[in-house]
Amino acid sequence: MGSQKVIVIGGGAAGFFGAIAIAEANPNLRVTILEASQQVLAKVRISGGGRCNATHSCFDPVELIQNYPRGSKALRGAFTRFQPGDTVAWFEDRGVALKTEADGRMFPTTDDSATIVDCLQLAASNAGVRVKMGAAVTAVRQIASESPQFEVQLKNGEVMGCVRLLLATGSSPQGHRIAKSLGSKIEPTAPSLFTFNIPERKLTQLAGVSVPVAELKLTVPGPDPTDKKAQTKLQQNGPLLITHWGLSGPAVLKLSAWGARALKNSRYQAKLWVNWLPAHNLEDIQQQLSQGKQDAPRKQIINHRPFLFPQRLWEYWVHRAGISPETRWTELSKKSLMRLSQELHQGEYNVQGKGVFKDEFVTCGGVSLKTVNFKTMESKACPGLHFAGEVLDIDGVTGGFNFQSAWTTSWLAGQAIALAP
Ligand SMILES: Cc1cc2nc3c(=O)[nH]c(=O)nc-3n(C[C@H](O)[C@H](O)[C@H](O)COP(=O)(O)OP(=O)(O)OC[C@H]3O[C@@H](n4cnc5c(N)ncnc54)[C@H](O)[C@@H]3O)c2cc1C
Repeated sequence: MGSQKVIVIGGGAAGFFGAIAIAEANPNLRVTILEASQQVLAKVRISGGGRCNATHSCFDPVELIQNYPRGSKALRGAFTRFQPGDTVAWFEDRGVALKTEADGRMFPTTDDSATIVDCLQLAASNAGVRVKMGAAVTAVRQIASESPQFEVQLKNGEVMGCVRLLLATGSSPQGHRIAKSLGSKIEPTAPSLFTFNIPERKLTQLAGVSVPVAELKLTVPGPDPTDKKAQTKLQQNGPLLITHWGLSGPAVLKLSAWGARALKNSRYQAKLWVNWLPAHNLEDIQQQLSQGKQDAPRKQIINHRPFLFPQRLWEYWVHRAGISPETRWTELSKKSLMRLSQELHQGEYNVQGKGVFKDEFVTCGGVSLKTVNFKTMESKACPGLHFAGEVLDIDGVTGGFNFQSAWTTSWLAGQAIALAP
């Protein structure tokens, strides 16, 4: 392609990674990133609570794709070409070491997202990538499709030309409008990775209490709440955290991701069942409670816990089962014992809204994957136009999967653009 111009729209994770891939693989190309705001890589900077959870230590593509509520099928092949192991090596080659936490999340060893931001900026600068800030793109026109040529219109009236385009505008509606104007189908958007609002005072008073593993079942009603067939039913296991607003933690965030569309449609009204003791079945729980009766008959129930849980949580369950705190074990009726077992095994909660998970959130929906060639990330409707990152209808659960899909799709797009005839 000689010293032809390539424009990358969007200076986020995908835009930078893609621009670097293009410029490193083909130094003859003149690569410019156009960024609407005055700050590049803004989300990388605030990501992972300021530590940037850059990827996840899952190196098998088949296992990896299970973390993507949308995009898993298309990503399978893509991950055979660039996956978390390649991300680790990419950063290591540029002097940034990543470490793995117990749950598999990978962060820079500095625990500082600035390390990733600086690395990407330095790599871009070393590869000769130009970055133009305050450069919001309002429209793109394809003026020739056989040897692709584009006219990129900026908000300030400037018009720039290029032979290939990488659209990496994240969840921005403007990016979706540009893609649509160039023939892409756009899947409706919905927020993903949020916490559940459960306005129950006794629960929210326990804010900060967590359990290492709970099993959650969620039922989201369809448009007709009485139609059981229209319900969406989901299940997840994992750590659970009580907050000032309701419930959070990986198990809830995963449910929010898999149920993102259904929950948006139900206006975030749903029924949640919590099994606080997934290692025990109902009979086990009943038996252990009966044992409590034998072990400490004269003690008040709240003062003798048959399970290893925080005292406050135990008191809460006893309250929820309708048992007065003064009740002694010997006074516990069979009916109350059953209610308490049920509370531990399948406590029922009303989700009435969504909250914000500050460490990570993402938008599902965007450019339909049906209209994209996943070998090159090129639009099937518009030759010369490539996509990467969150602009696509791809999103992952929390844990570094969203950056990984941004690295993978932008690397693939970058290789294809660099090597295009
Ligand atoms: C608070 C928070 C924390 C997160 N933490 C993590 C984490 O730790 N790990 C993880 O895997 N994921 C995390 N994510 C998700 C992750 O940040 C995104 O998936 C990722 O940033 C997507 O990268 P992107 O480049 O596609 O989009 P973005 O990062 O959104 O970048 C898009 C860029 O395009 C620019 N742009 C948009 N429209 C135009 C236009 N018309 N013209 C010019 N420029 C335009 C935007 O200004 C923006 O800079 C987090 C998200 C948030 C919000």
